[in-house]
Amino acid sequence: MFLEPRLNKTTHKKGWIEVICGSMFSGKTEELIRRINRAKIANLKVEIYKPAIDTRYHESEVVSHNSNSVSSIPVSSSLNILLMHQDADVIGIDEAQFFDKEITFVCEELAAKGIRVIVAGLDMDYLGKPFGPMPSLMAIAEYVTKVNAICMECGDLATHSFRKTTNENQVMLGEKDTYEARCRHCFNIGMNNKKG
Ligand code: ZN
Repeated sequence: MFLEPRLNKTTHKKGWIEVICGSMFSGKTEELIRRINRAKIANLKVEIYKPAIDTRYHESEVVSHNSNSVSSIPVSSSLNILLMHQDADVIGIDEAQFFDKEITFVCEELAAKGIRVIVAGLDMDYLGKPFGPMPSLMAIAEYVTKVNAICMECGDLATHSFRKTTNENQVMLGEKDTYEARCRHCFNIGMNNKKG
């Protein structure tokens, strides 16, 4: 389990970047919320942002699949985070795979200002390919945590998000009716079956 290198405010504030990545149903958002809640206990000021595209549950909340929610601010562009952030000690960014590529610059700017940045997102899309800015974010982060789901076919650890429909948009929001967490093996079987 990830333990914070530092939670108390020190006179010399140093920022850093953490990435939490994994497939759908892997608990990424739950882990983000866990870290945010611990920062709150330490009396740190927190802010959470998410892309405006992700409106599955509620406009102004980061909501994980178990409804353990923390309020968040939807933004249409990653640069808005630089413009909007106040005096936060910790900034959480959820669903980062949907942000534009400037998100890496934004995270580096925030960290340079002494802010701890915690970024959560899907590392792979429904084809099993690296998703949007996530590879770059993982490269520039001090700490990367890859969380796994459980394969809904065989029960092994799952790394892939298998889309059960034939829709071919990279962005297709949905939950259990649209996606399944799968291990690489069961993901490949499913993709081959789709090809027919
Ligand atoms: Zn499997």
